[in-house]
Formats: sequence, C-alpha cells, structure tokens
Amino acid sequence: MFKKILVANRGEIALRIQRACRELGIQAVMVYSEADREAKYVKLAEEAVCIGPAQSALSYLNMPAIISAAEVTDAEAIHPGYGFLSENADFAERVEKSGFQFIGPTPESIRMMGDKVSAKQAMIKAGVPCVPGSEGELPDDPVQVRRIAKAVGYPVIIKAAGGGGGRGMRVVHTEAALLNAVTMTKAEAGAAFGNPAVYLEKFLQNPRHIEIQILADKYRNAVYLGERDCSMQRRHQKVLEEAPAPGIARKLIERLGDRCVSACKKIGYRGAGTFEFLYEDGEFYFIEMNTRVQVEHPVTEMITGVDIVKTQIMVAAGEKLPFTQRQIEIRGHAIECRVNAEDPFKFIPSPGRVTMWHAPGGPGVRVDSHIYTNYFVPSNYDSMIGKIIVHGDTREQALARMRTALGETVVEGINTNIALHRELMVDAKFMSGGTNIHYLEEWLAQHTR
Ligand code: ADP
Repeated sequence: MFKKILVANRGEIALRIQRACRELGIQAVMVYSEADREAKYVKLAEEAVCIGPAQSALSYLNMPAIISAAEVTDAEAIHPGYGFLSENADFAERVEKSGFQFIGPTPESIRMMGDKVSAKQAMIKAGVPCVPGSEGELPDDPVQVRRIAKAVGYPVIIKAAGGGGGRGMRVVHTEAALLNAVTMTKAEAGAAFGNPAVYLEKFLQNPRHIEIQILADKYRNAVYLGERDCSMQRRHQKVLEEAPAPGIARKLIERLGDRCVSACKKIGYRGAGTFEFLYEDGEFYFIEMNTRVQVEHPVTEMITGVDIVKTQIMVAAGEKLPFTQRQIEIRGHAIECRVNAEDPFKFIPSPGRVTMWHAPGGPGVRVDSHIYTNYFVPSNYDSMIGKIIVHGDTREQALARMRTALGETVVEGINTNIALHRELMVDAKFMSGGTNIHYLEEWLAQHTR
C-alpha cells in the first residue's frame, strides 16, 4: 500500500480523499491555491503545498506545479478527485511518466472514453445498449448526413465527439434544419474542444438519467454497485441524486450492470467509473462514461456499504478488489442534496463569508463538506459547498430523514439552495418517484418568483 498520496483537488472531495487516506493509514499531501489557504483539509493536513494563485488554470489545472509538489513531498501517487485534471489523459500520462501512480484508469482508457465517438463504438462492441444513431463520426457528404438522420428518425441530436459539461449539443426537429445545425455544431466544437468531429443520435423526449457505478482492478475483476437516479437536473447539472432508481425492475438493472462489468473487463478498465444512461420506455441507452469518482458517489456507498474512494486507492496500489459481485448487497435507499452557494431560485452565485454553519445529524445522516463557521467561500470555483446524504430502510424513510436534516441545517452569511431542496422534498411528484430529466426545469418555471 502507498505511504503517501498527493490530493490534486479542492473542496469537499479533497476532504473526502483525506479522510479515506487516514482510514488506510496513508499520509495525504494537500495542495491548495492562494484562495484556499484557509480550507479545512489544509488546516487538518500534516503537509500542504501551495500550487499557485486562485485562478484554476494557474493552480488546480497546472500540471507542472502539481507534479513538482508530489516530487518535493515524496508522494507515491496522485488522486485527481473529480473535475479539474481528473479526466485529462495527458495529465495521467505525465503523472505516470514522472514515476507516480495515477489513481484512476490508464491514460488509454481515459482517452477512449473522453472521445464520445470512440466510447460509443467501444460500448457497441462490448454489448452495452446505445442510443440509435450514426455509426461513428458524421461524414461531410450532405446526402449521407440526410440519409442517416432520416433512418434514425426525427427529432435527432447532433453532439460533439469532444463535448462535455452539457455543451456542444443541438437538437434538430426537421430535415430543413439539419445541415445548418451540423455546420454550427462542428464550428462550435472545433472552437471549444479543439475537435470538430460530431455524431448524430436519436433525441429521446422524456428520458430519466440512470447511471451504473463500477469498480475494477488491474486483474480484470470488476463489479457494479447498483445504479443511481440523477434525473433531477438544471441545465444538465445534477441537483440531487438517489439510489436505487425508483420503479425500475431489479432484473433490468442486473442485466445492465452485467453488461457494464463485461465491458470493463473487455477494455481492461481499472479503478472507479460510471456508465451514464438515458432510460425511456423500459430501455437503457448509453450516453457516456465518466472515468473518475463522481460527486454523487456517497449514495452508492450508503446503500452498499462499500467505500468507493478507499477502493480506488487500493486498486491503484495493485490490490485485488476485496469483494465479488455476489457479496454486493443493496440495502435501503439513499438521497443526496448538493448544497450550493447560490440563490435558491435565481441561481446567482453567492460567495463570501459563512458567518454560521450548523450541520445536521442523527441516524442515517452524512455530511460531506469542507465548510465551517467563518469559512470564506471563494468566487473562483464551482458553487458547491457540500452535500447532505441520508440513508433509510425505505425511500419514504430516506425522504423523511432528508426533510429533518434540511430543517436542522443552518448556513448564514451567504445564500444557499437549501430552500429549494426543502421544497423538492415535499413535492408530490418527486415524492412519488421516477421524474424525468425535464421535471426540475418545468417545476422551476412554475415556481419562479
Ligand atoms: P456531457 O458530457 O456534456 O454531459 P452527455 O452525453 O452526458 O454530455 O449528455 C448530457 C445531457 O444531454 C444528458 O443528461 C441529456 O439530458 C442530454 N442528452 C444527451 N444525449 C441525448 C439524447 N440522445 N436524447 C435526449 N437527450 C440527450
């Protein structure tokens, strides 16, 4: 096992990784930008290194600064967390070339999954169900483009191979709008992602977002840890998540999970990963794979008892997965609310000094947050300041626990979206389960004040 790991991230996930390291008896070196000097995990750290100014480009995205921080502290491995450099194949490669272990999949896996066209082709080959669409990149010939769209059937969606974060997509309802949309998406993709390649898919009208968590080791052992429902989204950003997904037959999930596991074995995937699907009319359609730990991993930890971050570290150190599929049992129901420093209904970011923070507690309540009373939320980064996660024997109990937890939570000095979560937890449609990816935006449109 490693003796020392460098944590190349910030915020709640940096604290989460630090906690996993402590449990494993590993020393965690924390890095921070000038804006994060006062972060809780920096104060708690045995060793911390400033890697640059507040701007991410000069600190958390600064590969040479991070690698030299690992060199001067004698760390053996680098955990990239999520966001920032976590899905950057070049970074993973540089980390390994510099003699450190990258806590994540191989650069080849990251590269394959980072290109949505190659990811989809790999999934089709591995027997994972995908959204019907073009076989690979769209050709230049307009006649062929029209023929492909017609065969798939309108509406279709044009997507950038290098896209991410909900950008580089365009929905097309009629043939008249097709070629123009392809040209525009290509131009945007070239400018934004440095790759003009686009592909075409059937546009699903009212899907749910369901994802499968997997863990794999270097020896082609892999397991899936059930699914998560992340359909409650605003502008393609997840707002709250739960596990299991309400109302989906276990048999369907098991079949899908088995496919994901065999895909991992086929491509030699190692580490933690998530297969994201759209689910409509009883069918799953792969959209992309995330090759890192995700924000919403705690709901899976709550229902399986598996520590995903600790397992990531163990398999990166060359250990075998400590469990088999048969040992994975789903227990009860978990919900996570992302707490953001923002206006709860207008979504304007609200950085600044937290004058009072009181976290909830009690049975089945978990809080992953790096904030504390008198902490200053910097304006330079994502607005998420923590996550409240609850577990119950049933979904009803989890909902009740979340209502109590949200009721106990106090954040003063800045605005947060807790008021929005409180309303969603008593919304009749959400309470009945199975809302689709448009539900939250429709709800917001009706409730804007
Ligand atoms: P990104 O990497 O930018 O997040 P994804 O491929 O994961 O891109 O898609 C993001 C979101 O876009 C999905 O969660 C869904 O809301 C929407 N979307 C993507 N593909 C389709 C599709 N074929 N039909 C309907 N919606 C889609």
